[in-house]
Amino acid sequence: MKKVFNIGDFRLCQKGVCNANMDGRDIVCVMPTGGGKSLTYQLPALLTPGCTLVISPLISLMTDQILHLKESGVEAVMLTGGTPRHLLNEIQQRLTSMASSRAHGHQGRDIKLCYVTPEKIAKSKTFMSLLRKLVEGGKLARIVIDEAHCASQMGHDFRPDYKKLSILRQFFPHVPILALSATCPPRVLQDILKILKMKPVIDGKAAPPDGTVYFSAPLYRKNLHYTVLPKPSSAKELIVTMSDYILQNHRNDSGIIYCLTRKDAESVAESIQAVSNGRIKTGVYHANVEDEQKERLHMQWREGKVQVVCATIAFGLGIDKGNVRFVLHHTVLLAISQKSLDGYYQESGRAGRDGQDADCVLYYRPQDATRQASITCSDQDGMVKLHDILRFAQDMQECRKILFARYFSESSDLSMASWTTNESDAMDRCGHCDNCTRLPANVEHKDATIEAWQILKILEAVEGSGGRLTISGLSDLARGLGGGSFETGGGGKRRKAKEKIQIDYDSVAGGKVRLSKDDMESLIVQMLVLRYLEETFSSTAYTVNVYVAPGNQALRLTRFARE
Ligand code: ADP
Ligand code: ZN
Repeated sequence: MKKVFNIGDFRLCQKGVCNANMDGRDIVCVMPTGGGKSLTYQLPALLTPGCTLVISPLISLMTDQILHLKESGVEAVMLTGGTPRHLLNEIQQRLTSMASSRAHGHQGRDIKLCYVTPEKIAKSKTFMSLLRKLVEGGKLARIVIDEAHCASQMGHDFRPDYKKLSILRQFFPHVPILALSATCPPRVLQDILKILKMKPVIDGKAAPPDGTVYFSAPLYRKNLHYTVLPKPSSAKELIVTMSDYILQNHRNDSGIIYCLTRKDAESVAESIQAVSNGRIKTGVYHANVEDEQKERLHMQWREGKVQVVCATIAFGLGIDKGNVRFVLHHTVLLAISQKSLDGYYQESGRAGRDGQDADCVLYYRPQDATRQASITCSDQDGMVKLHDILRFAQDMQECRKILFARYFSESSDLSMASWTTNESDAMDRCGHCDNCTRLPANVEHKDATIEAWQILKILEAVEGSGGRLTISGLSDLARGLGGGSFETGGGGKRRKAKEKIQIDYDSVAGGKVRLSKDDMESLIVQMLVLRYLEETFSSTAYTVNVYVAPGNQALRLTRFARE
């Protein structure tokens, strides 16, 4: 370890994984990004005879690994769809002669690590028969499946070719498998085990002699500093705010700005560069960017010629840059298109992989959620995800670390222990997030009990007469806008006509609600996340991918609120 990799001590659960590896066990290892997953198979690969096969989804990641390994004098190769024929032939030749050689132990030119894309396994018969020869010659030491969560449709990065990796265990039942991932809630874990046909994990940890050994390192990363900042209402102002933030805090650091849409990514990139007078060099990354351009951007970013990448969540896997010092989120809505707070954790976690301090900033404005929620969330599930992230964003008191811990233990059914090393740790404040460092004097508290009660009363009256309101509809009505009237649904089976009903504020709620539009919408969102209100959808459950027009979405009092 010291001689080849220049690493002095093991980190997290590296030692355990290496040992289990040397014992030839099936292993699942879940470690946060930057935790040091590579060492867990690269070290055993050098210490055991034969070749270690590594399946990895991204060519850029593999290229990087190979480069590092070669620099350290390790014989490593990679095979992808793009490997030139002569190189392919040469590598296959070397593997074939390895397979038939009788000698065990370290032969000078033995390939110790062979990286391949999942397509190689799924589609190349030649390669599979080559693997068979290696196995028959006792020269396939282990199979490593990187980013193993890609095999599960329940995970957040499903790749069809990963599903076909099941043939590995089918063809080579005695070669141990090491599955690696940075995100793997228990149901995804179970799914992966099933798909890859790995042996069951018993009891989470204690495996029987031939069960899969499960390792997980805590997810919590103390070098990440989380902050939620108020998002200005105008797009222009937001650009200035972000640009100032970068110039003041990260003048020469690399960073990412995550945006919801491709168009946003493009316009943010352009405007930030313009507003900063070219002092901040930006690049754009989204699914529609040409592959060649993507490669170039990766390069420029790595070399520091591009300082900030403005991207959609398509920019993710394959970021092997350690010194990302900040990740900004342009909107809270991003999270729901992924996997709620889980998605936010993933995206923000691209910062600080090198273990040095990094900032994760979420620009938040309750109106973001109210105005576009009906477009972005087409179902109840989407709503739940949205509320999880809203709860996180709205909270101005609880430590961000504790909010994450709670979320992971409740929604992703991960135990607290997978967040920090022990449960009591999980509930200690981090001491360095915005909510931990905010001066009490900077927080403005408003008691909105009466206003909340008024809102509930008004909504109750609307519901009682068959009306339906969206968040902004309720906000307007409660403030007395639109002449204080609302429409009943109309339509339905009996084709009732729509009816306009006037609300009597004084008798229903003791008057109109006196709050500004901003405060009102913020309060309604708060009532949603505290579960006094819920949103329902009138679209029928059996239509798939329905577009829920704002009019079909309605707020409703919960039983909790009625009680
Ligand atoms: P992962 O694949 O889990 O995201 P990597 O394997 O790429 O992480 O490792 C991240 C960085 O940490 C690399 O630069 C690696 O050299 C370094 N690293 C790994 N293990 C150790 C260790 N025990 N001590 C110091 N640095 C380590
Ligand atoms: Zn904190």
